[in-house]
Amino acid sequence: MSYNIEIARHAGFCFGVKRAYDMVLEALKTDNSLYMLGDLIHNKRVVNELTEMGAKVINSLEGVNDGTLVIRAHGIPIEELKVAQTKGFKIVDATCPYVKIPQKGALKLSQEGYFIVVVGDKAHPEIDSIVSYLNSENFIVTKNISDLNYEFFKKHPKIGVIAQTTLPLQTLQEIISHSLNYAKEINIINSICDATFIRQEETLELARRADCMIILGGKHSANTTRLKELSNVYCSNTHHIESEQELEVDWFKNVNHIGISAGASTPDAQIEMVRQYIISILEQI
Ligand code: SF4
Repeated sequence: MSYNIEIARHAGFCFGVKRAYDMVLEALKTDNSLYMLGDLIHNKRVVNELTEMGAKVINSLEGVNDGTLVIRAHGIPIEELKVAQTKGFKIVDATCPYVKIPQKGALKLSQEGYFIVVVGDKAHPEIDSIVSYLNSENFIVTKNISDLNYEFFKKHPKIGVIAQTTLPLQTLQEIISHSLNYAKEINIINSICDATFIRQEETLELARRADCMIILGGKHSANTTRLKELSNVYCSNTHHIESEQELEVDWFKNVNHIGISAGASTPDAQIEMVRQYIISILEQI
């Protein structure tokens, strides 16, 4: 049986995640008490690997008073950062520089008198870190145009718009285009990260040509879930997995061209493991 397995060119670790991962590895060389507040990145296997090397995952600063604290790639709320500084932690700030753009942008626009529309997912840690810079009366987090109705703009005619870095461009475009019907003034900071856009475009392009698409990455990772949704548009035989153990033989029957794409928190080694596993399945069919 002849087959072709093609890996999307930019699949895997993005700049910010690689930077955070490398910073932890570097800190582990010298620091014995190293804590990661929340998951450093959305990839259980990578986080487990780091904990095996000595890093500890904590979900709050309660009961932990010293040591080295790594700030995850998605950032943490400013209040938490201040508590960590007050406690005297050595801070390793692995917040992605591109996540600092919406953090600082939201604060700037708010100081300039705009009501802030944060376009993104309410439960996402990056959004928690962005809105922590704002007064709770002075922003809304939404992706739905229905939240931005006539009544809303009557109260807030002048809005500043900030986007979650992993937001699909189309969602931002819809929000802006809708808001133009009502707003008196709109100031936009396009904080969508290129890494996300490039991965999405490549995944779409690969899905157009492939008979089967494997999307590798955390089930809780927003950017990986989005890759799966996009891939599904052109290739219904698309599967989102976290590890090669989830691959099923049936997916590869009567299939010649297999595409692999991966979220920004997936290291190359995991992609290669999946590729090898697919080869072993194909050789049995
Ligand atoms: S996706 Fe972009 S913003 Fe998010 S961590 Fe990666 S490089 Fe940074």
